[in-house]
This record gives sequence, C-alpha cells and structure tokens, in this order.
Amino acid sequence: MDTWLRSRMHELSDLHGVINLAAWDREVYLPAKAAPARAQQLSTLHALHHERLVDPRLGDALARAGESGDLTPDEQAMVRVLTRERERAVRMPARLVTALAAAQGEGIQAWREAREAKSFARFQPALAALLALRREQADAQGHDGERYDALLEGFEPGMRVQRLTPVLTALRDALIPMVAALASVRRPPPAFLDGRAYDTDRQWRFTMRLLKAVGFDLEAGRQDLSIHPFTNAQHAHDVRLTTRLDAAHPLSALFGTLHEAGHGLYEQGFATEHQRTPLAAVPSMGLHESQSRLWENLVGRGRPFWAHHFPALKEAFPQALADVDLDGFHAGINHVAPSLIRVEADEVTYNLHIVLRYELELALLRDELPVSELPSAWNERMRRYLGLTPPDDTQGVLQDIHWAWGEWGYFPTYALGNLYAASLHAAAVRALPELDAHLERGDTSTLRGWLHAQVHSQGFRLPAEERVRAVTGEGLTDRDFLQYLRAKYGALYGVTLKG
Ligand SMILES: [Zn+2]
Repeated sequence: MDTWLRSRMHELSDLHGVINLAAWDREVYLPAKAAPARAQQLSTLHALHHERLVDPRLGDALARAGESGDLTPDEQAMVRVLTRERERAVRMPARLVTALAAAQGEGIQAWREAREAKSFARFQPALAALLALRREQADAQGHDGERYDALLEGFEPGMRVQRLTPVLTALRDALIPMVAALASVRRPPPAFLDGRAYDTDRQWRFTMRLLKAVGFDLEAGRQDLSIHPFTNAQHAHDVRLTTRLDAAHPLSALFGTLHEAGHGLYEQGFATEHQRTPLAAVPSMGLHESQSRLWENLVGRGRPFWAHHFPALKEAFPQALADVDLDGFHAGINHVAPSLIRVEADEVTYNLHIVLRYELELALLRDELPVSELPSAWNERMRRYLGLTPPDDTQGVLQDIHWAWGEWGYFPTYALGNLYAASLHAAAVRALPELDAHLERGDTSTLRGWLHAQVHSQGFRLPAEERVRAVTGEGLTDRDFLQYLRAKYGALYGVTLKG
C-alpha cells in the first residue's frame, strides 16, 4: 500500500481518537460552563474528519489500491473497510447532516419534556420529523427496498432485515413461554437487595478488583464514574471505562463494570500491526456487545466466577451479606421477573424488550405504523410478550433515549450481542473444557486468551457474522443462547424449560 494512503488512514484514526477523548471528557469531567465550547470543538473536529474522509483524492487512492494486485490480505481488508465507510459518508448530503443535528437537538428536548409530562403527545412531532429525515438518509445511502437495512448498516455492517427478522421472531416465540414458566414459580426478589446499605467506597474498590480479575489492563486504560456507564477508546492503549455507584443497588456497579470491561478488553486487544488503521475496529456494535455480555452474564453471573470472588465480596460487605451464601447470591443475581424497563431487565426477559422495539422500528420505517399509534402498539406488545401494561408513557414508549436521537437500527445490536455471546461462549467451552475449573480458582486468562486470539486481535478483518462463523462454525443463531437459558434457569428455578 502506498505511503500516502497509509498516512491518511493514520490521520483519520488519530482524529477519531481525539474526537472520542473529547467526548469522553464531556461525559466525565467537563465543567458545566464549558459545554457550549466543547460542542463547538467537537463540531470542528467532526467536520475535519468528514472533510478528510470524503476527500476525492482519498477515493481515488482507495480505488487504485483496490485494483492493484499487490496488497496483503490485511491491506485489502483495510481498503475494503475504509471504502465502505467513505461511501456512506459521501452519500450523506451535507444538508441532511445539518438538518439531522438540529432535529436531534429538538428531539432530545421534546423527549425530556414528554417524559416530564408522562405523555407521548409532546414528543410525537419531533419524532415524526426525525423519522422523515432518517427515511431520507436511508434513501440517500441506498438499499434494496428495505430502508431499515440502510440504517442497520450504520451499526451492524452486512446484517439485513431478511436475515435478522426470522431469528428474532423465533427467539421471541421461544422466550415468551420460558418467561411465563419462570414467572409462575413466583420467587421473591433477593432480600440482600431490599434496601440494605452498601458503602460506595467499598463498591468502587471491588469494581477495581473485578477489572484486575478479568485482565483489563489499567496501564492501558482507566475507570471513572458517570451517570450511564460506557466505554470509550482512543487507541488500544487508551481505553476508558465508566461505572456507577448506588449505595442501595451494588449490582449496578459490579455488573456495570464487568460489562464495560468486556467492551474494554475487546478495544485493548486489537493487533499491534492494525493500530491507526481501519482494522483496529470492531466489525459491528453487536459483536462489541457480545464481549460485554459474555463477561457480564455468561461469566459474571455464573457460579464458577463467584465461587472465587464471593468470599471477598462478603468480606467487603459483612453486614449486608451476613445471611447470604454463595448459592443465595448466585440465585439473587439471576432473579427473573418481567419488568417494564429494558435496562433493568434480567437476561431471560431482556431480548423481548429488544424484539418489541425492533418490530416497532421496522413498522415505522416501512410506513406500516403511524407515529401517533406508537404508544398503543408498544403497550399492546408489552402485554403480549411480558404480560405487563405500562402505567404511563414514561415507563413505556418514552423510556429510552435512542429514538430521541433518531437512532433506528441500534436496538437489534443488543440482541445480536446476546446471541453472539452465547455462541462464542459455547465454542469457548468446547475448546477449553476446564474453563469452569479455571474460573473457580480465579483464573480468567485462558478464556481471555482464547477470545483475544479468536475475536479481539482479528479487528475488522471480517464482518461480524463471518467472524462468528469462523470461530464457531455457524453464523447467527438463537440455539446456543436458548440452550444456555434452559440449562441455567431450569436448574436455578427447578423447572423444565422448553422452547
Ligand atoms: Zn454495552
């Protein structure tokens, strides 16, 4: 690859890193008065990045490189990934970018007011405006008659509605009876989460212990606090995580940290030779999420992991956990109950929240559902899937910020993450039959090493589903996830789970 193209890749990657750093700082440390200045700085940096990306000389260089026969396989992948990103940017009219930014500002504002008023009506006009712009965007970026595909492509490159819908529909139909069977056991929520006090300094220290336990490199990253935990990476050697501390709800810190650490391990694991190139990137948000869910749920809510860590947790919170043993803790952190709020959902009910949103998003983009009917369509599905009726729109259709940003196509990446996580974990267990024994003695290195080799260090060499297929022998499937749920929750709840 010629040095000019290589240096442009470095430049785009550096700009992207600095944009991420400024955005991280905005969420974590920015003084209140600096918000307008930071917005301007970020806007300038975004414009610079965009200008460099759509530069016709870059387009020519990529086309020449693509035609030349002397690229290594990694260089071919770099050209392919950057060409795709560039074409999406080129096809996005500048007028639409400006209009979307304004509509997002109005969307967020109207969403906040609507939440305050507990009424969707206040949000409806802003949402309709955003939807019209996203339809325009989808048409500008191109699709085969399915607008949703063009938006999904922004988060899950290569995934299509035609591939996704049958999998999510089958998942939904398997989960509904499973949730009902578990709910019929009527187990009360764990007493150790019933208002007992957990010192937040001790919580913080325990999250740092967990980061070390899973092998997050604290010399190539750090953890801070924010209201909503997130991961933000500028480089494999600079990965920032956040967590949140709540004196009455220690699980949000423990599992928030494990979740973000899963994202962080992925970002820290990109290959050295891919640094500052388009290959030092995740192939999709779903695959990114597979790594966070794997550590948070498949490892972090598992008995082997806590067999090692529970004694230290009990030592950190001797009063709150005085009457709790390992089995009680394990059952408590895996309590299943249909609930209204997605971000509070357990891993059995969680995907039903996603399927509900996916179906509504698709219907909106296809003009099959008028915006005005969104709340009633939401409530009707909540009843069918989870047996619940939201008391107001704030606990229903207005609960997530995604649509206020006009983000359609993002929600399914959470479900893809859960399904990919289960398939990758099943493959890891096949490859590492002693894995549970390793976790029981606090050794996460075999699993981490396997994930590093199979997924993290591969960067964006392959699209997400092809990467999963290369590792597991099969692409997207709900089989491993459902098998995992049946085995785990069947045992925890003493019921035989079908579906
Ligand atoms: Zn995540």
